[in-house]
Amino acid sequence: MSDLSAQSGTHPPDFIIVGGDVVTMNAQREVLNGGAVAVAGEYIAEVGVADEFAIRWPNVRRIDATECVITPGFINAHQHFTGDPLIRSCIPDSISSHESIFQWAIPAHEAHTPDDEELSATLCAAEAALCGATTVVEAGTVASPERVAAGIQAVGIRAALSIWGSDSDGVPHAASPAEVVARQQEMLAKFPAGGLVEGWIALVGHDLATDELLQVGTQAARDAGVNMTMHISPTPADAESYLQRTGKRPIVHFAELGILGRHLLLAHAVWLDDQELQLLLESQTAIAFCPWAYLRLGQGVTQAGRHREFWEQNGRIALGADANNSGDVADILRVATLCAGLWRDQAMKQDNFGAQQALELLTCSGAEAIGKASEIGSLEAGKQADIVVHDTSGIAWTPRGDTAMQLIWGSDGRAVRDVFVAAKQIVRNGQLTGVNLETLKTEAAKAQKALLRRLSRAGASG
Ligand SMILES: [Zn+2]
Repeated sequence: MSDLSAQSGTHPPDFIIVGGDVVTMNAQREVLNGGAVAVAGEYIAEVGVADEFAIRWPNVRRIDATECVITPGFINAHQHFTGDPLIRSCIPDSISSHESIFQWAIPAHEAHTPDDEELSATLCAAEAALCGATTVVEAGTVASPERVAAGIQAVGIRAALSIWGSDSDGVPHAASPAEVVARQQEMLAKFPAGGLVEGWIALVGHDLATDELLQVGTQAARDAGVNMTMHISPTPADAESYLQRTGKRPIVHFAELGILGRHLLLAHAVWLDDQELQLLLESQTAIAFCPWAYLRLGQGVTQAGRHREFWEQNGRIALGADANNSGDVADILRVATLCAGLWRDQAMKQDNFGAQQALELLTCSGAEAIGKASEIGSLEAGKQADIVVHDTSGIAWTPRGDTAMQLIWGSDGRAVRDVFVAAKQIVRNGQLTGVNLETLKTEAAKAQKALLRRLSRAGASG
């Protein structure tokens, strides 16, 4: 899969990033001080020592990262690209999470034009990129996938993209199971695996899918060899609803339907009982953990969350930033900080979960949870060249301490200087290379006003 001639040194790489502390996240978790990353084609050709690379390849283009920290691109496994970005921080936090979703978020999605969808996705992808996220899994609430893909592609991040999938009345674009799946399969054909934007199967989830849809959706994912994602149990409401309808808790019901497995990434899974936790572990179903959402919406993660336990039993788990009204930023480093804090506080012990492990969730473990461990998640020869250079000249990095601790506890995405995805530089010196941020900001402010007017909530922005 990689350019072996470049790896073996026969041909020089296209460019080298030299001089920083390279946090490889390889199996040995090596950090190379004064390291370098050589890139050829879309791939990492070699990771090594800056001085040696300079001697070997004196004429190759160099990107100076002296005194910077170089990490793999971060993975955000649950992000709503549309709906919330244009009305970010507009949904009051004085209402319940149910009201927030059904009285605000869903009407906002319904009021979106295709232009809004592209703008919203561009804004979201831009924020993700500027904070070092190179791979983002869209959460399954997109109406115009081509327009959303155009926004993502303009910024240049890697994304898993889906389209609304529900057969429940009151959900936008609800349709019969056959129609929902046909629409999703069309998506997979348009965005095949291997591209920067890849199609996934997505269902809204919660209690907004019939058993038939859950099963045909799963079958479609299995047939196409792609992943599937959906929401479940951020609050106790989904369990109450499934108990009433089926007599079983949701994960138990899913197990009986045969829809659990390595292909499935469940967003949230906060309110689980022992049996549900065990079923997710046994089936190797993955979870996208979005702690800001649970705190911002008051969903009870500090009372009920079992994600730490899930992780301790080798559960497959990644981090998600969710929506711009449930956490409000797409800075996945901030999510990692919160995750580390919550899990350490929950355990109250001398700890095996700290900054290093949080960094794993952002990179190698996150990649594994979304089924991409062979392609991304570490800086190693043969992996895709998804690379982030963090500028450590700011006050938060002065003086320098332990790299992982300073990244997770002491910093956030604002130190991101350069970002590469499949070797293409999408952020240079803190600026997007593919999108004019000033124009984007002006358009987003204008679109927000129009959207709020259509929602009859003109006062909410001020
Ligand atoms: Zn979500």
